[in-house]
Amino acid sequence: MPGFELFGDAERKQVNDVLDTGVLMRYGFDGMRNGIFKAKEFEIALAAKFNSKHAHLVSSGTAAITIALASAGVGAGDEVIIPTFTFVASFEAVLALGAVPILTDVDATLTLDPLAVEKAITSRTKAIMPVHMCGSMADLKALKTICKVHNLILLEDACQAIGGSYDGKPLGTYGDLGALSFDYVKTITCGEGGAILTNNSAYIKNADYYSDHGHDHIGNDRGAETHPFLGYNYRISELNAAVGIAQLNRLDEFLAIQKKNYDILRNALNTIAELKFRKVPEGGIENYSFLSFFLPTEKLTVQTHKALVESGVDGCFYWYDNNWHYYKKWEHLTERKSLGKLPQEVLNGLQDSSKTDFTKSDYWVSRNISCLIKLSWTEEQVFERAQKMVECIKNIL
Ligand SMILES: *Cc1c(COP(=O)(O)O)cnc(C)c1O
Repeated sequence: MPGFELFGDAERKQVNDVLDTGVLMRYGFDGMRNGIFKAKEFEIALAAKFNSKHAHLVSSGTAAITIALASAGVGAGDEVIIPTFTFVASFEAVLALGAVPILTDVDATLTLDPLAVEKAITSRTKAIMPVHMCGSMADLKALKTICKVHNLILLEDACQAIGGSYDGKPLGTYGDLGALSFDYVKTITCGEGGAILTNNSAYIKNADYYSDHGHDHIGNDRGAETHPFLGYNYRISELNAAVGIAQLNRLDEFLAIQKKNYDILRNALNTIAELKFRKVPEGGIENYSFLSFFLPTEKLTVQTHKALVESGVDGCFYWYDNNWHYYKKWEHLTERKSLGKLPQEVLNGLQDSSKTDFTKSDYWVSRNISCLIKLSWTEEQVFERAQKMVECIKNIL
């Protein structure tokens, strides 16, 4: 998946454009910058590529989620529904606003289960945040319907699924808002960076101001700008944005490589009848950054994962006991371990982990293995890997 695997001359050329002027900041210094505005240029290209009215670049994917929520008015005590299988960034972004993350079951899509979402809605719910983990998406049509009925915001975390689509729309643009990450291990990277996508002009204006201290970006004297509301600094630097321009130009090339490698592995594993693949909702196209499959039982899955690791098939993950991605290992959240005191709204609103029941998530995630698809493999290596995987799995079953 990661764009860093193919970092090269195009990226260096973009960065050198910035180094030649020495203007590392995206705003101001018009006299010195020789017309070079890399962040602006990346935003325009991103909006065009994703067929989104607006795109706003920020310092990380986590920042993009925080700002997306803030721009839609999510604040203290508001509940945001997030999946049990995600990355810790999901609840960090919610907590940063004093809002309350509500963990909710996933299903065979490995993303939010619409039935569980409906049960999790309360009078305090403000947003639903499906996280398109490992390159594939939630049942977005069902989630959008729920949002319409309950007047909720649909925010797609498409950080891991850049380039996938649903119902003909790029992931991140189907809901009211989308968040992308360009950190070092994402499909395309700019070192550190992220973006908010939306068609809503009020949200993007809010995001634009909020991510730069609430400055109103009116006129061309930064020092004279006023502040319609409180903000923060989530700006991206020109150096990072420059790398992103080169990588976005290569997105289709990266996706094509991923699909080719994915297809070889999938066709090989298809010969094993006991193995089921992750459910992709109708109308969805993955970005092929991972191949995710289910084994018949938890025990067989643990054994298979161990066998894969031992036979040198790297990059296959058993998320069920992973520290970063599954609710079972998030003691810092469930035991509320914060440096300072958490807001009272958060303390009052967080779920009591002794009372939550995520049996449904456990059912799916405990039987899942997800294998990273790399860009740098030769075709020979992919076929060799496919054969090894089939041998390992057949030996266990
Ligand atoms: C990477 C990632 C993020 C956060 O992105 P950063 O740019 O690393 O802050 C958020 N959500 C998911 C699902 C991710 O994989």
